[in-house]
Amino acid sequence: MKPLITALVACSLLSAPITAPVHASGVPDLGDSAQQVLSRKAEQALGDSIMAEIRMDSAVIDDVEARDYLNRLGNRLASVSNDRHQRFEFFVVNDATLNAFALPGGYIGVHTGLIATTQSESELAAVLSHEIAHVTQRHISRFLEKDQNMGMASLALLAIGILAASKGGPVPEAVIATSQALQIQGKINFTRTHETEADSVGMQYLAAAGFDPHAMPAFFGRMEKAARVYGEGAPVYLRTHPLESTRLAESANRADQYPYKQVAESIEFHLVRERLRALNGSESTQISYFENALKERRFNLEAASQYGLAVALLRNGQAVRAQQALDQARKQLKHPMLESLAAEILIKQGKLDAAGKVYETALSNTPNHVGLNYGLIRCRLLQKRAVDAEHLASAQIEARSSNGPFYALLSEAYAQQGNEAAARQAQAEFYYRQGQLKEAIVQLQLALQVKGLDFYRQAGVEARLKEWQAEQELIKAKS
Ligand SMILES: [Zn+2]
Repeated sequence: MKPLITALVACSLLSAPITAPVHASGVPDLGDSAQQVLSRKAEQALGDSIMAEIRMDSAVIDDVEARDYLNRLGNRLASVSNDRHQRFEFFVVNDATLNAFALPGGYIGVHTGLIATTQSESELAAVLSHEIAHVTQRHISRFLEKDQNMGMASLALLAIGILAASKGGPVPEAVIATSQALQIQGKINFTRTHETEADSVGMQYLAAAGFDPHAMPAFFGRMEKAARVYGEGAPVYLRTHPLESTRLAESANRADQYPYKQVAESIEFHLVRERLRALNGSESTQISYFENALKERRFNLEAASQYGLAVALLRNGQAVRAQQALDQARKQLKHPMLESLAAEILIKQGKLDAAGKVYETALSNTPNHVGLNYGLIRCRLLQKRAVDAEHLASAQIEARSSNGPFYALLSEAYAQQGNEAAARQAQAEFYYRQGQLKEAIVQLQLALQVKGLDFYRQAGVEARLKEWQAEQELIKAKS
């Protein structure tokens, strides 16, 4: 089953040895026959249902700062693509293996292990561009064109199986039993062409968005080195799908065709990378990692390592030491993420009023920062200032397109005020944005059962329910 990994969804950077010849003139003409087979709406519905499964049992990291950063970076790349209508959502998976993958519907996942390995924002951008290219080149639809008989349900099942296999886990029996799944193995050569294309188109996006095209071969090179170092102990991906030198050479050649340009390094990349490192894995391991890195002066940005140490210490319940580490970072760097952590440390010590003041002061300088806004609302909820929390959350929902986490806070604000129907409605919107359509519908149905529901809310809930039930029908119809 392993070659399946490259076939449908988990088109990883590492998974595809390139044996197909290079397209000398760049990208082949695609036409749009793919669109006739799987409509965008159907592909979106398929992606949503896969995403719902992934969120249900897994390690999707919902840290708002990391998520917001990754989505801003990803959307900056997607905005220069040849497909402006595609919606994207980028997410981080807590998994130490080196991997990134694209799902139907523009969902792109990146493992924490991969982020930890990137040395610059351009390298992370290179990984994202490759996956974005899989989506904008409609590789999934073009792939499905060959399997028109496959229903949505079996596709979703297959995709989940592929994801499991990509992590080296067992492939669910149900997936093996899907006879269509076996047919897909025969199309592996087709997808190698896709990998070449994703490399080539991805590099165009990378350069157009202002990043360093050489970051792509640099990152591939590091992967290859990791494979050699690990040998037999290498992650499944590296063992079963070694990076061939041809792919590296092709990528380096492409990068050389771009004129040299100075690229400004983002400080936020370093802060987010260290934050993810600090938030995952064993606390004591991460604390010693940062302590050693600082002692031996092994870091890209000292303040980011001090920040990482502070996050790890706070996670370990050591608020005072976390404060000391953060003070070191703040001596060298001013950044809203540092202020956000300062407030979090105060919250951990029960100093809610002081934390609220830190948020307010920092927000007066950077009013749009997601972590500060999220943190302030959480702080208001802890202070039982539910009406303030409600107003702040509503304003954030209004202002942001990616507003799922704020619906969760809004729901809590309504619950604190004893407004069950409104709380359920907000919770439903949260689930919907998580791709959990079934759970979203249940919340709306429960909202309709609340006694004394006013007419306007009832009408709103009913309209939304009808909309979502139609979406659910679409998925069933394709099954
Ligand atoms: Zn790929």
